[in-house]
Amino acid sequence: MIPHVRFAPSPTGRIHIGNARTAFFNWLFARKKQGVFVLRFDDTDLERSREEYAQAIEVDLAWLGIMPDLVVRQSQRFALYDAAAGRLKAEGLLYPCYETAEELDRRRKRQVGRGQPPIYDRAALKLTPEERAELEGAGRRPHWRFKLAHRTMRWNDLVRGDCHIEAASLSDPVLIREDGSYLYTLPSVVDDVDLGITHVIRGEDHVTNTAVQIQIFEALAGVGSAPIFGHHNLLTSASGEGLSKRSGALSIGGLRDAGVESLADAALAVLTGSSDSVHPVASLDELNAAFDLSHVSRNAARFDEAELAALSARTLHGLPFEAVRERLAHFDIAGARAEPFWLAVRGNLTQMQDVLDWWRVVEGEIEAVREDADFCRLAAESLPQEPWDATTWSAWTSVLKQQTGRKGKALFHPLRLALTGRDQGPELAALLPLMGRLRAVARLSAPAA
Ligand code: GLU
Repeated sequence: MIPHVRFAPSPTGRIHIGNARTAFFNWLFARKKQGVFVLRFDDTDLERSREEYAQAIEVDLAWLGIMPDLVVRQSQRFALYDAAAGRLKAEGLLYPCYETAEELDRRRKRQVGRGQPPIYDRAALKLTPEERAELEGAGRRPHWRFKLAHRTMRWNDLVRGDCHIEAASLSDPVLIREDGSYLYTLPSVVDDVDLGITHVIRGEDHVTNTAVQIQIFEALAGVGSAPIFGHHNLLTSASGEGLSKRSGALSIGGLRDAGVESLADAALAVLTGSSDSVHPVASLDELNAAFDLSHVSRNAARFDEAELAALSARTLHGLPFEAVRERLAHFDIAGARAEPFWLAVRGNLTQMQDVLDWWRVVEGEIEAVREDADFCRLAAESLPQEPWDATTWSAWTSVLKQQTGRKGKALFHPLRLALTGRDQGPELAALLPLMGRLRAVARLSAPAA
């Protein structure tokens, strides 16, 4: 059987790095097993869901390198949910309840006061048809609860191993609200059945839902029809707080705008809170090789936002030219010099756009700093003729050393300042042939008086 997984965000905001963790776990799992990755928009809440968020989520996923094999929207599948609800009602598994929120709240408080667990008491099941008619006559609209079978729900979780929950410890879940709208629980199962989802990988905030949903799978598609589940720990900030859709800074769009490399987001999202160390990767294939759901820890997956900038820089330092060729071309860095240029400067980048500063050093205008004009002039006169290569720098500086007796910093520092305008940067042996003799001479020579 071909594995089918899904990532199911609600398009009520932009996705953040914690959502990316779930998306990556599913997508990498599918890649490893040549499976199918479905992007499912859980947009049954028509008021809060917005098409522009759905589109932004697709853009964010694409930027991360995640391309879905199939995209579905729950808002276009209501007929399926209505049919499933109809079946459950006919079988007496979905029953109407008329309590108001206040009534339920009062009952819960009473239960807690008596030291009982605040579980729904199924009072609505005892209503006679006449009582129901009376309530409806008085204008009450029902909400609908799924009647749980009181048994132990067991599953072997891909992350948490053997799991069990007593269904009797749970309230019968509301599947349909008073206004007829669906909560997430039923449509999710209907879609998982319809789309042939074999593995549900999601956050551990859904563990209890799983006990309920296994029963709904069984009711709709038969015993043994539930997929395999895996519940991963949730990413939290260094202080242990959860990430919400509203914490804009950690949204994928916000991180991209801040210049964080997508591969750094990916490595952090996937490797945090696992037995693998968070390390930079040069490709998603490399990340996939390191990824294993069974390595995910059961403890919180804490990460420090400050780590992200350093991880992003380290990611750049290891990227091969092929991985950045197109992005460099967008900056008009192309042609024969593009690859040696990249290899020369990548180790000095904090963010990708820093390449522009270094490209100006080899190709454009800079403010040369001539601390010692006489030395610089002599250096210009000693520059070898072209063609230049990686050996030119050492040949030139050896001659200068002999001519002036300078060595170490006294020799190199004024040259770096004049040639690049900065006191630190990539190896000059690599930069010099890229900037060429004309430019080097101009930077070393004082402007004519
Ligand atoms: N829309 C749900 C959520 O974002 C999906 C949960 C699931 O994967 O089943 O929490």
